[in-house]
Amino acid sequence: MVKKSDGEARGARASIEQGPSGAEGDGAFTASGVYGTRFESPYSGALSFMRRRYSRDFSEADVVVCGIPCDLTTSNRPGARFGPRGIRAASAELAWGPHWPWGFDPFDRLAVVDGGDVTYEPGYVASMLESTEKFARAVLASGASMLSLGGEHLVSLPLLRAHAAYHGPLALVHFDAHSDTWSDEPELGHGNMFYHALGEGLIDVAHSVQVGIRTHNDETHGFQVLDADWVQERGAEEVSRKICEVVGDKRAYLTFDIDCLDPAYAPGTGTPVVGGLSTGFARRVLRGLGGIGWVGMDVVEVSPPDDVAEITSLAAATLALDYLCLLALDRPKAGA
Ligand code: MN
Ligand code: MN
Repeated sequence: MVKKSDGEARGARASIEQGPSGAEGDGAFTASGVYGTRFESPYSGALSFMRRRYSRDFSEADVVVCGIPCDLTTSNRPGARFGPRGIRAASAELAWGPHWPWGFDPFDRLAVVDGGDVTYEPGYVASMLESTEKFARAVLASGASMLSLGGEHLVSLPLLRAHAAYHGPLALVHFDAHSDTWSDEPELGHGNMFYHALGEGLIDVAHSVQVGIRTHNDETHGFQVLDADWVQERGAEEVSRKICEVVGDKRAYLTFDIDCLDPAYAPGTGTPVVGGLSTGFARRVLRGLGGIGWVGMDVVEVSPPDDVAEITSLAAATLALDYLCLLALDRPKAGA
């Protein structure tokens, strides 16, 4: 009944799953397994990240996708609470087989489910922090790793709390226009959570790096800072090499604030800053990070109400898919 994807072999789009009524869509709840890609029209069907099956049973999964719809502390435009929906919707355009230019479909190698969204008491930061950490601990306890879709950047704090509890202090690879370590703000928010994460001992700062920064902060707090001009002058390959050198053999967490990209490439975000990276450039940097021992990723600050033609959501979905390709790089095809 199920025609397995042979996209990897022929570099073509994956097959349509055949059901009793012919071609059957809605893989978000009809998918019969955790591997493979099957084609659905991008404009139809129930939406999940990359058409993965929605499941709260993490036992079969290598990676669990989760959404954290929160913009409670956003300092300028709100809207990142709609980020998980926007990224899931845009990902439908990518769910058809091998991901260019990787040459393979990561879902032939990695078992990935969409775990849905974290729920919390609307309006309460403490509730979001608690619920997100609880969700993350449940995923990590199952043996799976996480790919999280924000939400504003504050969601990285409870994610790091759970990951550090499991793995110990982590090398942080942080793409952003902002350092998010401003220590003079009175309340916890999306501009200072990494300052708090440092204070809580969640980050191994000697092996951590910030990429694409283009706002002032007199304190680096020990992070290696590769600012936007340095990055663009040196080129993607050198940036990748530098990141790998800083991280070394430490376990690492990737956090990608979409405002690292220039507003031309990511208009749909709350605090845009001109002079950033292009999406293609950022992808080339990510592609050079295969040697790193990744334990998790989040992509944050996508604000669909500010987006144009899904540019930002599509960039976020593509970068998240690139991360899955990094994880899948050295893995055999499932069942092979
Ligand atoms: Mn930012
Ligand atoms: Mn940020």
